[in-house]
Amino acid sequence: MTREEVREWISKQKEVAKEDLEYFVNYFYVLINSKWLEEDHFDEWLKQALEYKIFLYDENDEVYKRLGPDCKGLRDSKKKRIYIRKDLPDPLLEMTIYHEMHHAIQTNPENDEVGINQKSNFGRLIMEAQTQYFAEKIYEEIHEMHFEEREIPSEQLRMLPGGTILSKLHNYEMYDAILTKLSILLGVDKEFFININFQYQDDIGMKKLREKYEERKKKYHFPYKFEEFMFYLDCIYCIDLLAYKENPDKENILNGKKTKEKYQIYEGIGYDIGGNLSLGLQFNYLDDLDRKYFMCLYDYNGPFEEFGRYLFKSSTRALCSQLINLPYPAVEEQDAGQK
Ligand SMILES: [Zn+2]
Repeated sequence: MTREEVREWISKQKEVAKEDLEYFVNYFYVLINSKWLEEDHFDEWLKQALEYKIFLYDENDEVYKRLGPDCKGLRDSKKKRIYIRKDLPDPLLEMTIYHEMHHAIQTNPENDEVGINQKSNFGRLIMEAQTQYFAEKIYEEIHEMHFEEREIPSEQLRMLPGGTILSKLHNYEMYDAILTKLSILLGVDKEFFININFQYQDDIGMKKLREKYEERKKKYHFPYKFEEFMFYLDCIYCIDLLAYKENPDKENILNGKKTKEKYQIYEGIGYDIGGNLSLGLQFNYLDDLDRKYFMCLYDYNGPFEEFGRYLFKSSTRALCSQLINLPYPAVEEQDAGQK
């Protein structure tokens, strides 16, 4: 379909406010022309999307007070509104519209949960990561641009210093780097994650993810069970969420302290681990996954070199650079050289 055809298709379904229409056209134009989706759902998804109106808000609005200064947008499925912060710079404003639109379309109307994340926080990091990835992909395609991967020092990202995130995204860069590593571990491209998040009915998407994981776990001898692995990812996500959303523990988290409150990452799904959270814990979980899965790939002839490019912690990078060529130098090595 051309963009003109997409515009006609949308206009036939519903009259859309002129200022919103182009965003819907862009979103569905890229979605429909992706090769990895089955066509039978397009009408249903469009119907669900068109229930929403886009609202730009500023610091005087109630939404701003509720979400705090670091939030960029929100999809309110009760009011059927997509709220976007008015003062976001380009290209973030447009990307955030696609991000919230994607959430709206991947929302299960029966329970209001999004994508593979149908219970508690299970699958939440992957759900969020593919959302931002797709939002930025739309932006790139519509504006015929290509963003390059950047090396981002971790302290620029509400994280402890001492690590590097490799991502081309403009938001949620850390989730994106994890999604990249996940796609290498599972031997799929990132479209796989977009695809499974549309298949929330009967948890089909989650089942596909589990199958993929089990298959590769066998092949490369991954150390963690699927649930454990997901737990680490979603715990990393929840710590980041506490660091930017308005909440009583935000200051503690950002100051590198442990939260006062104990948090349960998963509730009521038979894997109820929780505790005090901190950026230190997040840092250690990221590094633990990196080291263990890198070694699995290394020992069992997997794509360890590709994976190694995304290793997070500087000292782990320094260690692994004895096995592979890394594109950017580890901090420890530079320090050692200066002494
Ligand atoms: Zn989101």
